[in-house]
Amino acid sequence: MRVTVLGCGTSGGVPAIGCDCDVCRSTDPRNKRTRASVYIAKGDARFLVDCGPDFRQQALREGLRRVDALFITHNHADHIHGIDDLRSINWLQRKPIPVFSTPENLERLGQIYDYCFNPPQRGGGVPKLEFMPVERGKTFEFQGASVTPIPAWHGKLEVLGFRFDDFVYLTDCSAIPDSSRPLIEGCEALVLSALRPKPHETHFSLSEAVDEARRYRPRRTYFIHMTHDVDYAAVSRSLPPGCELLYDGLQFEVSNHRGADGVVRA
Ligand SMILES: [Zn+2]
Ligand SMILES: [Zn+2]
Ligand SMILES: [Zn+2]
Repeated sequence: MRVTVLGCGTSGGVPAIGCDCDVCRSTDPRNKRTRASVYIAKGDARFLVDCGPDFRQQALREGLRRVDALFITHNHADHIHGIDDLRSINWLQRKPIPVFSTPENLERLGQIYDYCFNPPQRGGGVPKLEFMPVERGKTFEFQGASVTPIPAWHGKLEVLGFRFDDFVYLTDCSAIPDSSRPLIEGCEALVLSALRPKPHETHFSLSEAVDEARRYRPRRTYFIHMTHDVDYAAVSRSLPPGCELLYDGLQFEVSNHRGADGVVRA
């Protein structure tokens, strides 16, 4: 399985509009962060996790032409406001895109994107989406991948993480309930949100994310959804072994050490 980081930035992106701080003015491309999203290639299947306002630029940058399924973590603008640009993918694929999330998230998404389901007139084109409600914690198979929706907390809001085989993606979280922890254990690679060094009400800080990740002992931990308080080079030097910051455009492979029988092998 190959994971491409489409974006690793917080809701406003980095650089922040109107900011002259060192990170926003940095020439290090790893300090330029579009809104958080990843693209997963497994066999013939291509999955998109979240579709934020930078989706169009991310898709052009990475040459994306296919989305076999979209997985939505939650309905904050930085995770869904690229959905209209899925029209281009619909045209290329000539079929609707299945969208997986909780029934509540999908219902709200349908309200936000009402015009997709109740187009006011013919012509103009709307994204063609097919809602696929998931059950929290219940693993299902989709196009050759085993997918588990993982409930977590984003302040008081529920956010959904996803496990794809042995890759876990958990963004925008500030707490992981005990009931979700077994769903993360044994993963090979964990992507976890780490907003900035300072604490925040609705996101793990860097040190909280490091502590949380330690519980699961993944082979590799990657941090995502970072603000301009995080200078790539400086913060990278301070991270413990096995932990790294993501940057836009990074690709990594995740092997599936769980056999077809579901047994985890070293
Ligand atoms: Zn976010
Ligand atoms: Zn700044
Ligand atoms: Zn959010």
